[in-house]
Amino acid sequence: MTEEPKKIKRPRGKARLLPGKCIACGARCQAECPFDAITMNDKGEPIIDLVKCTSCQRCVKICPAQAIEIYFTEEEKKILEELAKQKATAPTQVGVEEKKEPEDPRLAKVREYKGVWVFTEHTEGKPAEVSWELLGVGAELAKKRGVELCSVVIGEKVEHLAKEAFAYGASKVYLVDDPVFHYYRTESYYKAMVYLIEKYKPEIVLVGATGLGRDLAGAVATQLGTGLTADCTGLSIDDKGFLLQTRPAFGGNIMATILTEYTRPQMSTVRPHVMPMPQKNNGLTGTIVRETVPVKEQDIAAKVLEIIGDEKMDSVDVAAAEIIVSGGRGMCNAENYKILQELADELGGVVACSRAAVEAGWMPLERQVGQTGKTVRPKIYIAVGISGAIQHLVGMQDSDTVIAINRDKNAPIFEAATFGIVGDLFTVIPAITAYVREAKLKKKAKA
Ligand code: FAD
Repeated sequence: MTEEPKKIKRPRGKARLLPGKCIACGARCQAECPFDAITMNDKGEPIIDLVKCTSCQRCVKICPAQAIEIYFTEEEKKILEELAKQKATAPTQVGVEEKKEPEDPRLAKVREYKGVWVFTEHTEGKPAEVSWELLGVGAELAKKRGVELCSVVIGEKVEHLAKEAFAYGASKVYLVDDPVFHYYRTESYYKAMVYLIEKYKPEIVLVGATGLGRDLAGAVATQLGTGLTADCTGLSIDDKGFLLQTRPAFGGNIMATILTEYTRPQMSTVRPHVMPMPQKNNGLTGTIVRETVPVKEQDIAAKVLEIIGDEKMDSVDVAAAEIIVSGGRGMCNAENYKILQELADELGGVVACSRAAVEAGWMPLERQVGQTGKTVRPKIYIAVGISGAIQHLVGMQDSDTVIAINRDKNAPIFEAATFGIVGDLFTVIPAITAYVREAKLKKKAKA
């Protein structure tokens, strides 16, 4: 009988900080360490607990200043040398016990979560279209992950919304129907959402980036201690199954893709009209899961006495328009917007604007298109005297046809345009309006 070769344990070393190299980048090593082995001192430098450190090397890899290394004691170095020698001479005969990388404990928890959820926003039973738009993108994410697409409907007498959610692609609806949810209130709704999420553990939760949705998503994410990416303009799944959440960052100058690696659910908000509306199919059905959540009226501090409509609110819904004539700083003053209104009236469209026009006090904020305004997807977007700053482009770049009118032939708006007219808007716009008017008259005369 031959004797088994003695197994030698390969030393893993320990992480240590290299003196003078830390740049106090903001505790990235501490955030990355899955074993809570790192705390920070007053100078923002890491203190590594050698008992907790497993030498997983995550801190080494994340450090932007190469300030952390894995070090070995003299004795460990000798063992490593010995192992190297043995491997060189008889690599197959020596039984070296390779220690497996310990699994990150946070990942085991992440795996418990399955499914894509979309929160159905409504006002007294009237749905917000963004909820259906999110079911469209949610379906793609669910397909890629091989999981269910579900909708959450909370309110009073809102079962009809469950049926609509099926028509837009949800295969399951979690329905909470109770008088306490008649009006939206942060406390009651976030408690209901948290209850459902903790019970059913979805991996992704999508919410419309409306006033209500932003309020709700923030409260839910805070309560669950998970990540939330606001105002996403792109959502997809990477090779490892993570949700890639893309949004403009640093004033819109770059697009950042954000991951929620170790907490669940992965939560995102998306503004209305950013995602395309999916086809409605009234023949589709699904499962309704009726839930009673432990939220009582007496526990909710806020009471809704009356809902008062905002009389000052602009009645024009720029985001829903199919034809938009949009003016920028090139319009020079508020009075000049009349020529855009004339063109919009002839085309059956509405007038919108850039932020420069809002800041100048020429147009109301509700008409602003862009990163801090509305996102639009019209059939035709006519950009007049607008330079095409990235913050404007993100709000209108998904328009079917973009027509740009600008006297500067190098204006960036032409990059995003289907058709471009280089010229003075005060000549071009009245000419187009006159042309359209005449064409309509001719058509009428022929009919
Ligand atoms: P300008 O950049 O000044 O362009 C005016 C254009 O008009 C020029 O190209 C000029 O050649 C042309 N022009 C002038 N006279 C004539 C004429 N007679 N005939 C033809 N062309 C003429 N901007 C938005 O629009 N929406 C947003 O939501 C938004 N959010 C922002 C968020 C942040 C955090 C920041 C930092 C900025 C944001 N901005 C936003 C501002 C943005 O960066 C630009 O400053 C803004 O879009 C410029 O507006 P404009 O194109 O009308 O003006």
